[in-house]
Amino acid sequence: MGNLVPGCPTDIMYGDDFDEQYEVDESNYLGTGKFSVVHLCWRKYQPEKRYALKVINNPPDDHASLTRIYEEVNIMRALGNHPAIITLVDMDESMQNTIRLVLELCEGGELYDRIQQKQFYPENEAKIVIKNLLEAIGFVHSKGIMHRDLKPENILLASKVSNTDIKISDFGLAKISKDYPRRLPRSHSICGSDFYLAPEVIKQEEYGREIDIWSIGVVCYVVLSGSLPFFHNVLHKLYRQIVERDLSFPEQAWKSVAKGAQDFILRLLQVRPGDRLTAEQAVNHPWLRGNGKGGSFGSNDWTGADSARNTSRAPNPLQHPHKV
Ligand code: ADP
Repeated sequence: MGNLVPGCPTDIMYGDDFDEQYEVDESNYLGTGKFSVVHLCWRKYQPEKRYALKVINNPPDDHASLTRIYEEVNIMRALGNHPAIITLVDMDESMQNTIRLVLELCEGGELYDRIQQKQFYPENEAKIVIKNLLEAIGFVHSKGIMHRDLKPENILLASKVSNTDIKISDFGLAKISKDYPRRLPRSHSICGSDFYLAPEVIKQEEYGREIDIWSIGVVCYVVLSGSLPFFHNVLHKLYRQIVERDLSFPEQAWKSVAKGAQDFILRLLQVRPGDRLTAEQAVNHPWLRGNGKGGSFGSNDWTGADSARNTSRAPNPLQHPHKV
């Protein structure tokens, strides 16, 4: 299927001509991204099985973007099938300056919209979402890959009925180590979405997989409270909040959530990447495992005094971040 371009992973393409094989509902969008639109599609011979078609426009002669798209495809192929990660089903390059990716469909839309509808998640459902997310990101990390853009907009819900059956999507900024496990994925480039950026990215230091754990800390805060831990309209003030981990758990949003949840979040939101829990450690945190105590975890214990600091602040309403 499609025109083969050097560097492109060829073995993902099966079947005949894309337009002979697939029907696309171009009148509706499932979503739009910075460089893409996403439609519903299905194979003509099996119309009951629906997929998402991500149509990525690649301006002519923009080799950097093309390389980036192939990297996204390579990474999705390396990840294969995982229940909480979007699977790449097919790929087509037969249209000029366009790459089409057939993806497993998530009928429930973005976690962002689900949080907005519900205002916030009850603690029992939030724990399942975060556990699923951590297990999936642990799997991603175990393949020598970091996602680099985890946020509720890139976490999709498999169906309209379940609030917890999530799938990680959009590997457009992900990075793979070619030489894993000898070398871990590392980078210097500033990328991601502002409210979810880890301090080391803002400080323009070299960084690694720990940035995904920070973002999950922010996502966990958002899921439980429906508000953002770090928010300012002025970018450098937002960045200062993040690098100083200047956050609070306002009474209004947190009074009915177990204190263990705050302990859990603060252990993901450690400014020094080495102090952050790994995905595997986080899954074993007492709050997530559900014994209700949520207290001590290792020697670097968090104390209530830290949380008491700013509880009178008003929660920061949830809104979309900006790509950096
Ligand atoms: P970009 O890489 O251009 O930012 P995304 O991959 O984030 O694009 O897709 C944009 C939006 O399209 C998503 O936020 C989501 O709303 C929708 N979308 C993407 N993939 C799927 C999918 N597999 N199933 C359902 N909707 C999807």
